[in-house]
Amino acid sequence: MKAGLKLFNNKKLTKNKEIISYKKPKYVYIPLVNQNDTNITPLVKKGDFVKVGSIVGKRKGNLRIPIHSSVSGKVIDFVEKPYLNGQMVKCIQIENDFEETKEKREVKKLHQYTKEEFVHQLKSCGVIGMGGNGFPTYVKYDQDIPLHTLIVNATECEPYITADYVLMMNHIEEILDTMDAIMEINHLDEVILAIKKSNQKLWKMIHNYIGTYLKIKVVFVSDKYGIGWERALVQEAKHVTYDKYPLEKGIVVNNVSTIYAIYQALKYGNALTERIVTFTGEMLKEPQNVVVKVGTPVSEVIESIGGYKRNNDIRFVAGGPMMGHTLPNDELVVSPNLNCVLVLKDWKKVEERPCIRCGKCVSVCPAKLCPVLIKDYQKNKRRLGELKPEKCVECGLCDYICPAGIPLREIIHSVKEGLK
Ligand code: SF4
Ligand code: SF4
Repeated sequence: MKAGLKLFNNKKLTKNKEIISYKKPKYVYIPLVNQNDTNITPLVKKGDFVKVGSIVGKRKGNLRIPIHSSVSGKVIDFVEKPYLNGQMVKCIQIENDFEETKEKREVKKLHQYTKEEFVHQLKSCGVIGMGGNGFPTYVKYDQDIPLHTLIVNATECEPYITADYVLMMNHIEEILDTMDAIMEINHLDEVILAIKKSNQKLWKMIHNYIGTYLKIKVVFVSDKYGIGWERALVQEAKHVTYDKYPLEKGIVVNNVSTIYAIYQALKYGNALTERIVTFTGEMLKEPQNVVVKVGTPVSEVIESIGGYKRNNDIRFVAGGPMMGHTLPNDELVVSPNLNCVLVLKDWKKVEERPCIRCGKCVSVCPAKLCPVLIKDYQKNKRRLGELKPEKCVECGLCDYICPAGIPLREIIHSVKEGLK
């Protein structure tokens, strides 16, 4: 069996619906976190007035990327709220004055930015990877290595999530324009938009526009879950392998929502203060894709779209069913890298049984690891050195396939944490 797996697909719950907006939260709670790093210094105090796009915090260390307010109003408190990985993080509570007073930034026409101005704009607007990892995007372009290719990841592998799909269906011209501008500004040779083979409706729509952009190539990739992982995507789209990062080979990979955030930064000087989130799952009355402000309480959005079918025996997942994190309740707030909130019927955990050495976890792993051996040798540092658990991308496939119900992803995650 090749790595990756064709999974069940519940995208139909939201795929063909209009995007709606929920932009009027009374309070927002801006998480002081970036790429799971909570080492952020707040730059405001209680009573300060902020605008939409004002800088309210900054990460310490090398990758100094600012964090912005998503509303205009008054800073009223610092409180802890759950982040998408379930961790409690410090948030700045801001009372919305509903005036939408905006912080102004200088802008140019998309293609007229110099490389330095482009990098500066991405940095000052706080553009980060929106596919889940939250890595500061400017860093990928601010390199000494000559870059030659941009791959835009529009594969959206996780079952249920359609945020990128509806973004493309509604904003393809802005996305293609931005890809073209990035190519020119960074003197790239090639720009690739990677979509899944089965996504024919999307392709038909893109086909109507792509003729204007002669240098942009659309590449159709496998329908298997796992193809959205950067390493698998680069291999399938460019036939290139690398050691740690695609940048080593002059390749940048950006998620398609990140491209739209770059568009907002270049065209309007907008900081990353809102995004589309897929609110879905069988236990929501009306699953929807919603444009929401960063810091909005998830419970408020769910209420605004019709609420739950019932209030007990439900399970919340921040993210998709494969890579997301199960949370105890809906107290989570929206962060720039939250692409989905999934509300499912709760289920009893399958009782774990002894491993039957079937090898299925090995055959599906897109990182070519041996999950079963990592589990067996989780306390043996020497063996772990050979088994390389740090390469695990936490896709959840080994968990999904294991007939013995062994929580492999969780085990490998703790092994990785233990090695840090
Ligand atoms: S969770 Fe990690 S070990 Fe398991 S299949 Fe995915 S990459 Fe491989
Ligand atoms: S899939 Fe589960 S039962 Fe099969 S080898 Fe891996 S850990 Fe063992």
